[in-house]
Amino acid sequence: MRIWVFNPPTDALSLKALQEAGVSTVVTSRIKDIPPKPPFTTYAMIHVFPTTGSPEDLAMDIHGQPVEWFSSGCPNSPAIRSAFYAEMERLLAQPIRGIFLDGIRFSSPASSTIKTSFLTCFCPRCQRDMAKHGYDAEKIRQDINTAMELLSSPGTKRSWLRALYSPSGWFSLMAAYPGILDWLQYRAECVTVFVKELRAWMKEHSPDKKLAAFLFQPCLSYLVGQNYLALAPHLDIVSPMIYRNYPHQPGPATINQEMMTMADFLEEAGIPFGQGFKDLLAIFGLEIDGSFPNSIEDSAGISIPHVIGEVKAARAMAGSQGKVAPIIWAGDPQLEETLRQLKNISLQSCILFTYEAGFTAHKDQFLDILGR
Ligand SMILES: [Zn+2]
Repeated sequence: MRIWVFNPPTDALSLKALQEAGVSTVVTSRIKDIPPKPPFTTYAMIHVFPTTGSPEDLAMDIHGQPVEWFSSGCPNSPAIRSAFYAEMERLLAQPIRGIFLDGIRFSSPASSTIKTSFLTCFCPRCQRDMAKHGYDAEKIRQDINTAMELLSSPGTKRSWLRALYSPSGWFSLMAAYPGILDWLQYRAECVTVFVKELRAWMKEHSPDKKLAAFLFQPCLSYLVGQNYLALAPHLDIVSPMIYRNYPHQPGPATINQEMMTMADFLEEAGIPFGQGFKDLLAIFGLEIDGSFPNSIEDSAGISIPHVIGEVKAARAMAGSQGKVAPIIWAGDPQLEETLRQLKNISLQSCILFTYEAGFTAHKDQFLDILGR
């Protein structure tokens, strides 16, 4: 299995040590630090929908409030899209093998301190785009609003919270308010159309460069508008982000922090945190590794078999085993064991996020772990 490193060090000594440990490919968000003739095969990461500084380009929540999420704005903003393509042109002029897309999605529960950021985007642009793609924007808005009202009203809250205690309850909620599913489906369609258009542009602009994407791991991906089955044909590399025990909050995209944030939402609605977290584990089919969290302040880790299971799921949906190169948390105390289990399923490439986190957690042993 080849190990790729995210944001490698840039001094000559460390680069040489990385090479000696067998690393030949890196992904960086700091392309300006990469030497003109990089010793590695280099991929540049691009933040896809960064904010512009103008409120006009922010996403809008279900209540009509502009919100920022993951330092991002509305995926349909023309200003954001033209800035993205300008940055693509700049990066593709560098000595790189290809581009990794990051933030190619809508907001997740843990993507913002503003909780309603998940319930986006309902800006006029997105509502027009929903209509253009055959969705009933008003029905979507009504169903999400009604479901939220039922969950907060004293008369109905109790029965609806009980429904959230089980997968069948969630199923009932979605069946009763199909606008919620339409909303999720629209977000996925919007992202897919964007990537499809980008792929066509890349074929014209830089046919020899690769297009890759960091995606939410499969069990969370549809929540943020990422449909592996639809996206994979347009990508050369599919990279599920599987950080099972990321210690920092808010930790968007990390399975443990996204689950903790969802449990925190449920606690606000009246389900004790520990109960909500336990139910979410059951709903998403997860097992905890180590101590059980009873508050969002606690730490929580998901088991290593989950990492393996999600890589298998991504491979199945990507339609090609070799196309999937997961990115995992290098600061994981059990990094070596996780890599060993990934080797056992014949994974070809695994990316470590980040060099710095790996070195901080494992000190001088980090390079030994990479070289094994
Ligand atoms: Zn929008």
